[in-house]
Amino acid sequence: MRWETVIGLEVHAELSTKSKIFCGCSTEFGGEPNSRVCPVCAGMPGALPRMNRAVVEYAARLGLTLDCAVAANCKFDRKNYFYPDLPKAYQVSQLYSPICRDGRLDIETGGVKKTIGIREIHMEEDAGKLIHGADGTFMDFNRCGVPLLEIVTQPDFRSGGEAVAYLVKLREILLYLGVCDCKMQEGSLRADVNLSVRRPGGGLGVRTEIKNLNSFKAVGRAAEHEAARQIEILESGGAVLQETRRWDDEKCESFGMRSKENAQDYRYFPEPDLLPMEISQAWLASIKESVPELAHQKRERYTRDYGLSESEAAVLTGHKSVSDLFESVAGLSGEPLESARLITGEIMRLMNNTDTPPESLSVDARKLAALIAFVLGGRINRGSYKEAVEAVFSHNADPEAYIIQKGLLMLTDDGAVSGAAQAVMEDNPDAVRDYHAGKDKVFGFLVGQVMKKLGGAGNPDMVRKTLEKILSE
Ligand code: ADP
Ligand code: MG
Ligand code: ZN
Repeated sequence: MRWETVIGLEVHAELSTKSKIFCGCSTEFGGEPNSRVCPVCAGMPGALPRMNRAVVEYAARLGLTLDCAVAANCKFDRKNYFYPDLPKAYQVSQLYSPICRDGRLDIETGGVKKTIGIREIHMEEDAGKLIHGADGTFMDFNRCGVPLLEIVTQPDFRSGGEAVAYLVKLREILLYLGVCDCKMQEGSLRADVNLSVRRPGGGLGVRTEIKNLNSFKAVGRAAEHEAARQIEILESGGAVLQETRRWDDEKCESFGMRSKENAQDYRYFPEPDLLPMEISQAWLASIKESVPELAHQKRERYTRDYGLSESEAAVLTGHKSVSDLFESVAGLSGEPLESARLITGEIMRLMNNTDTPPESLSVDARKLAALIAFVLGGRINRGSYKEAVEAVFSHNADPEAYIIQKGLLMLTDDGAVSGAAQAVMEDNPDAVRDYHAGKDKVFGFLVGQVMKKLGGAGNPDMVRKTLEKILSE
């Protein structure tokens, strides 16, 4: 290998606390511009911040899960910069004593396991948004003061693929912990890629930082692209400029934004309006106890207790919303295997077809459990089941009403089935002849025709038996 890629990630996760970090305003996404602001988060002179305890708790919960040391004492600092999305002209952040340090997260790529070091996790506040319109630029401060955790890794990744694997796993953890909703399209999870290249075994090269990555795919693409760009510069005798670059995923290209600033540029100093925090061991112990079952623990339990395959368990735990749905349906129906089959099959297919991201998944588990009872009880066939599942998924149909209204209850009436079988035989004399001549394959065709005649509501077993009987007469 002539060049080695070195990547470190900085991930910003917006916390799903109800209120902002230093005031009581709502953190909810969207809303009429500037409808969720008060003197504190709008940076009015004299307004004083008040620490939201839940933010410290969320930070500790994540830190403990990532094997970090959680500080017994931590403080905030001011990071000063002037930009219109920041009404106070400083961001309250943590430079000198972040709440968590020295953690780790194991990832796996192509069957190879690797541990990524977490350098630190710190708490800070988000800035507002600029809305660029035809009549000028407008400020929306609703996002000002929304709590963020910045999770900074060591430069431990050696490819974009490793970085993406880490992000997938980190997102899984954030969702399971209930700390962040991880909606990248709403900006609640954002990743910056720091990347340099070097000769294997050498010291760290000069890095660039790439921003504006709004999907995991974009992270992978941007990393590959940036590594290639730097290698080309170095191979042609040039030097990489330490700078912040902006990724344009549509053009698949990055652009220099500004030369990289240093901590000194921000004139960091201790935040005088907030007291240092003391975090007690007893409180940490209670937080540790409240950490829910994580994805890898669920995977173990599903394969052990329910007899699911590794791959089914992996699909079900890929997202908390999916494993939550699975557990509800399995619990309500008492049929874990059928529930797993339903969710890894039909529900996943419907989510794909309708571009439903897992975090927006909302299907009534009770209704799915009811449909499972219908199909396993032999009252509807697999085809009708699929149709009814889709109706529940896409417009929250009532299973029983839907089945009755669509006439999906299986016809177990002998007369109707044998009548349909008789009619199909009369309509298809060639197929009947072929069958008697030993071509077994036409049997499936005849079954299909009878099912069709019964409007899809025939009991397949019964149709098969009836046909066999009539054909042998
Ligand atoms: P800054 O103060 O500019 O944010 P940090 O030292 O905090 O820089 O590092 C930010 C991120 O960049 C971390 O994830 C770190 O691992 C990564 N990083 C630092 N130096 C390099 C380098 N030479 N190549 C790749 N990544 C790097
Ligand atoms: Mg940094
Ligand atoms: Zn406020």
